[in-house]
Amino acid sequence: MRLLVIEDERKLAGFIRKGLQEEGYAVDVASDGVAGLSMALDGVHDLILLDLQLPRKDGLTVLRELRAKKVSTPVLLLTVRSTIEDKVEGLDSGADDYLTKPFAFEELVARVRALLRRRGEAREPILRIGDLFLDPARRTVHRGGVRIDLTAREFALLDYFMRNPGRVLTRTMISEHVWDYNFDPMTNVVDVYVNYLRKKLDLEDKPRLIHTVRGAGYVLKVE
Ligand code: CA
Repeated sequence: MRLLVIEDERKLAGFIRKGLQEEGYAVDVASDGVAGLSMALDGVHDLILLDLQLPRKDGLTVLRELRAKKVSTPVLLLTVRSTIEDKVEGLDSGADDYLTKPFAFEELVARVRALLRRRGEAREPILRIGDLFLDPARRTVHRGGVRIDLTAREFALLDYFMRNPGRVLTRTMISEHVWDYNFDPMTNVVDVYVNYLRKKLDLEDKPRLIHTVRGAGYVLKVE
């Protein structure tokens, strides 16, 4: 998860950055509205913490321009103002939540978690086949209640299988969806990764999920 903090008070920005990093988030910081808007428009962040009173471009303007450009990243407003009118104006402009300074760090983290959770749930449902579950938003995989750790490539491969249950996937289809354009079609890397995945998914006493279809490719199904 990558967060963007747009806050001009250096001390506070540093405090928020350090605290969120300790919670396991990647954190970018912008110290004025123009720089912040430019970074936010990249659309790579999962959440934006936005101060309202900023130099060069105020927070509400940043927020409105962001929404006008169809960037839907959740925004948590940080402000010293706390009147009802300000709050309504902020939410009307497309903010998702509001935090009044000074705040306790625990409060900030709780709001951040809630917004990220809401976004994850709204974004993508959990994929399931038999007792295997894949959560695209949290990037987690469980089988029979046991958490399975996958590398990024293994995860992408399983994600593709789970979106096509019961369908035979050829090596070409798999390489086109899971590898980038530098993929060498002459290698057996697809087979190698399918085997990595099988080793991790096929827990003891559990039936196989990924089956080989001779001369064709692979299929994910419950027998
Ligand atoms: Ca400020």
